[in-house]
Amino acid sequence: MLTHRAAWAMMEPRHWIASPAVTLEGNRIVSVAGGSRARTQGPVVDHGPGVILPILVNAHTHLSLSALRGRLPWDRGFVPWVQALMKERAALSEAQALGACGKAVEEMTRRGVGAVGEFGPHVAVEKALGPSPLAARVWLEFFGDARRLPPLPGDTQGISWAYAAHAPHTVSPGGLCRIREQDRRSGRPFCLHLAESREEVLFLEQGGGPWAEFLASLGLDFSAWGLPVGSPVAYAHRLRLLDSNTLAVHLTQAGEEDLDLLAGTGTRVCVCPRSNWNLHRRLPPLEEMVRRGLEPALGTDSLASVHTLDLFDEMGFVAEQFPGLSPDTILAMVTLWGARALHLPGRGTLIPGSRAGLIFVGLEARNPSEAALRLVYGEFERVIRLEAPSIGKEETRGL
Ligand SMILES: [Zn+2]
Repeated sequence: MLTHRAAWAMMEPRHWIASPAVTLEGNRIVSVAGGSRARTQGPVVDHGPGVILPILVNAHTHLSLSALRGRLPWDRGFVPWVQALMKERAALSEAQALGACGKAVEEMTRRGVGAVGEFGPHVAVEKALGPSPLAARVWLEFFGDARRLPPLPGDTQGISWAYAAHAPHTVSPGGLCRIREQDRRSGRPFCLHLAESREEVLFLEQGGGPWAEFLASLGLDFSAWGLPVGSPVAYAHRLRLLDSNTLAVHLTQAGEEDLDLLAGTGTRVCVCPRSNWNLHRRLPPLEEMVRRGLEPALGTDSLASVHTLDLFDEMGFVAEQFPGLSPDTILAMVTLWGARALHLPGRGTLIPGSRAGLIFVGLEARNPSEAALRLVYGEFERVIRLEAPSIGKEETRGL
């Protein structure tokens, strides 16, 4: 047994405790109590002014693109960015890609991330994730018809695998359904990028535009895709891709009817606002998502479209851009809602019985509102991980 004390604890979003005593046994939270009711067991570590909270969840990133940090143009449009990404990625050696991936994992670990949604990897990211304290949901992405899906690697070292479709403007309708069905059959969550760019919308709604020209320039035949098919979200709904087993990422272009469809089907959603702003000069309809009870998770996206994988940077940006969202809501996005988006039960909360995955953030605050505000704006001295190194590893095994 080991007990951590501090000025505040955030058990779950909106559930704060003053003068908490958080007792751990191995990797499990045994008890959390506050003030005079707090009885300590075993050795006690008092961290002083600051907040104990669940580890943070970065629900969407592409670690294998980390070596592209600072190497791509963000201001020339989406298609030129994709073209530059393909060229630069092809020029990377495996060692370069994995070296940058390892640094990115360290960067996230230092800043309180304990679970990550990794999408697409074209190099063996498990070599960086496996030995790290991070739990990961890794989605292997597919393009085109996806006629043959190779078997997934086994779930070990805290890494749980699943299949993903890249997006509806890069995967045929048959491919989208095949990939989603494969995940459903094996009880794994499905993921896709959805309604991210104006180019994607033009392509699906009109069957033309810069994206059609780009695919044609690559020699890709999409004549059998049945275009036009309407808005990306309506199209995904018609293909029966939307339900609580699906995580839809971005939704920058989602309109009111799209959001109603997502909410009505219980689809999980994740947004990456800094990336969307850098690449598309547009933000996802985050306040409307929260109003509909969509519980959006937050992701940084990759270092090919943002400067850092730091969730405190992402939270600060969200707080500035969406003044209607409370700090508690923004903290929900990086804890409980992120864990739900990745289907990682027992994370994003300090409720007794859950697996311990917790951090301490040193800051001065007179009340929970002030503490929440300082957290989302990154106004603090330090982040300390309070979990044992093996904790993330046991958690996702067999999920
Ligand atoms: Zn992505």
